[in-house]
Amino acid sequence: MGKPTGFMEFPRKKTPWRDPVDRALDYYEIYVPAEEGHLKKQGARCMNCGVPFCESEHGCPIDNLIPEWNDLVYKGKWKEAYERLTKTNNFPEFTGRVCPAPCEGACVLGINEPAVTIKDIENSIIDRAFEEGWVEERQPIKSTGKKIAIIGSGPAGLTAADQLNKVGHSVTVFEREDRIGGLLVYGIPNMKLSKSLLGRRIKLLESQGIVFKTSTNIGIDVTADELQNTFDAVLIATGSTIPRDLSIPGRDAENIHFAMDFLTQNTKSLLSSSLSDGDYIEAKDKDVIVIGGGDTGTDCIATAIRHGCKNMVNMEIMTKPPERRGPDNPWPLWPNILRTDYGHEESEKRFGSDPRRFSLLSKEFLSKDGVVSGLKTVDIEWTQEKGGKIQMKEIANTEKIWKADLVMLALGFMGPEQEVLNGFGVSINTKGNIDSTYGGFSTNIEGVFAAGDARRGQSLVVWAMNEGRGAALAIDRHLQGTSRLSAPNLKLGSLKT
Ligand SMILES: Cc1cc2nc3c(=O)[nH]c(=O)nc-3n(C[C@H](O)[C@H](O)[C@H](O)COP(=O)(O)OP(=O)(O)OC[C@H]3O[C@@H](n4cnc5c(N)ncnc54)[C@H](O)[C@@H]3O)c2cc1C
Ligand code: SF4
Repeated sequence: MGKPTGFMEFPRKKTPWRDPVDRALDYYEIYVPAEEGHLKKQGARCMNCGVPFCESEHGCPIDNLIPEWNDLVYKGKWKEAYERLTKTNNFPEFTGRVCPAPCEGACVLGINEPAVTIKDIENSIIDRAFEEGWVEERQPIKSTGKKIAIIGSGPAGLTAADQLNKVGHSVTVFEREDRIGGLLVYGIPNMKLSKSLLGRRIKLLESQGIVFKTSTNIGIDVTADELQNTFDAVLIATGSTIPRDLSIPGRDAENIHFAMDFLTQNTKSLLSSSLSDGDYIEAKDKDVIVIGGGDTGTDCIATAIRHGCKNMVNMEIMTKPPERRGPDNPWPLWPNILRTDYGHEESEKRFGSDPRRFSLLSKEFLSKDGVVSGLKTVDIEWTQEKGGKIQMKEIANTEKIWKADLVMLALGFMGPEQEVLNGFGVSINTKGNIDSTYGGFSTNIEGVFAAGDARRGQSLVVWAMNEGRGAALAIDRHLQGTSRLSAPNLKLGSLKT
């Protein structure tokens, strides 16, 4: 429970990140290792609230045993804290870095004081565990003789692979990219999640017996029939990869790119040649506009800043969120408040102001000799009549032209690609995602399961891990009739993303 009076004695203090000016000059992680004394105090703030909402439906999607490890960190029992953490979390070094921490939004202390810094503590426990050599291969005790194919090596596929391997199934992960990790490798950039940490974990998984086959596009290099004939079960964890486009006049001009093309090419070139091959979309000396917020938009901003862009504007169609929770967004719901992320901070330091502009509708791309040169926008307002739908209205005489040499579209994703699903005959739902019930994870095809963004739609790493654990349990039960695997409780009314 931490120290009984800790929450009254110590204020919330996040572990600081590196200086935004310095860190924007390189691709190393933005984090600074936390001092033990600092972490003990922050762990001491956990107040034995009795019903830990941080673990509830609105809190941690993987049921992390948060108050237990807060208390162990406060008492300096780091190895025990690590052991508690890995009971529910296969890869805390990923969530500790990239999770938006819904647990903190649901922390009971957060009702009238700033929440416990749960995510920082989680990250420090796993970093310490690796440093101390406590993280070891988890070799299965005995083989079941059953073979499972997992399509896609993002957090959903990797979590399911780790779980299924633990109980003795023989697991092969197929990945069409040249590197393992899904969006952990080619979406989230190095400064937010170092690829050496990802590589370290993949090596561990390989040493446990999991087979990874990269550059293998299921549906093209290997057919659905071949997989079904060779394996006892198949898990589709192919992610939500169809980017939302912006069909306005001028869209066909050059230098307008989907965010994932920009981010993927940059990381590939960075990992292969430290950007010396020039095989990426260059933002240096350009006026850059990123359309769309969220993690993807932030990562584009931070990457363009590292290239040395001339200017940065980040446009958002929604209104500016409030600084504090509104009356319609009470605790313990996910707080819909203004969050200034690492990329916004770096852009503000580089250019002197927050790059974000809210309530703007993009109307037309302007171009010169076929290359984008600007973007025309209009201000909008959102209105809602009592009990009615929220409606967008353009405000007259607010047209504005923004200069742009490079535009990134970070407008979200519309679901999984259909080709691989058609190969199996797997049904999709009205949202374009795989039709499979949360909790059951099976599809309309016997022995074929689905998890992660391909099933739930674009979401978060921690939700992909929730689904990976759940799908592993479902597959194990399907193959053996019973299972000793654990999976998170179903969270049916939780965070929509
Ligand atoms: C730029 C960006 C930044 C993000 N930042 C964060 C963040 O900071 N925090 C957070 O919690 N979430 C973040 N997210 C969301 C998070 O990354 C995803 O929700 C999560 O990765 C989904 O996991 P997944 O395993 O379902 O799919 P993915 O990670 O998308 O992995 C799917 C994999 O399947 C492979 N694949 C697809 N089709 C085939 C095929 N036919 N054959 C073989 N392989 C195939 C793909 O190549 C890919 O590697 C971010 C997303 C983006 C786009
Ligand atoms: S995984 Fe995310 S929600 Fe769960 S404890 Fe860690 S930061 Fe909180």
